[in-house]
Amino acid sequence: MKVGIQSLKGGLNAFTFDVDVADIEFDDENFELVQVNVRSKVDKNEQSVVVTSDVTSIIKLTCDACLESFSGTLEDSYVLLYASDKDAMEPDDEVRLISSGTQFIDLTEGLRESILVSLPIRFKCSDNCKGLCDQCGCNLNTSQCSCGKESTDPRWDQLKGLLGQDRPSS
Ligand SMILES: [Zn+2]
Ligand SMILES: [Zn+2]
Repeated sequence: MKVGIQSLKGGLNAFTFDVDVADIEFDDENFELVQVNVRSKVDKNEQSVVVTSDVTSIIKLTCDACLESFSGTLEDSYVLLYASDKDAMEPDDEVRLISSGTQFIDLTEGLRESILVSLPIRFKCSDNCKGLCDQCGCNLNTSQCSCGKESTDPRWDQLKGLLGQDRPSS
């Protein structure tokens, strides 16, 4: 995911990348990157290059509630700043230095982090996932068991834990 900046004309330039997921070197056991697509706008000026990238990733992961694997789409964007003169940029910005001789900038930088921050804290196959029966372990999305006439709302489980007793049956 490199952009040759020498030949780039000034102003906004658009790029699209189908990233080879192996290049991202993601080694998280909890999910698998299936496809990563990046659309970048490269704004080249005399002293700086500002790259805004929109990332769309398809990942395969395991639902925390029902333990089935499913695919999800993540979207995030990140900005990389390159400048030949740090003073030209805002002091708070994280600026990578380039010189007039810099041939390429590598946009892979920041991509892994961008995907990481867009991951949900809890993985759920759907908002309506019913999870597993806490008694027989069957997947309540696809099968019914005779254990529970009770609510499987996880908030009840928390209450149940707090009270240290069975929740009231409805
Ligand atoms: Zn699920
Ligand atoms: Zn059950």
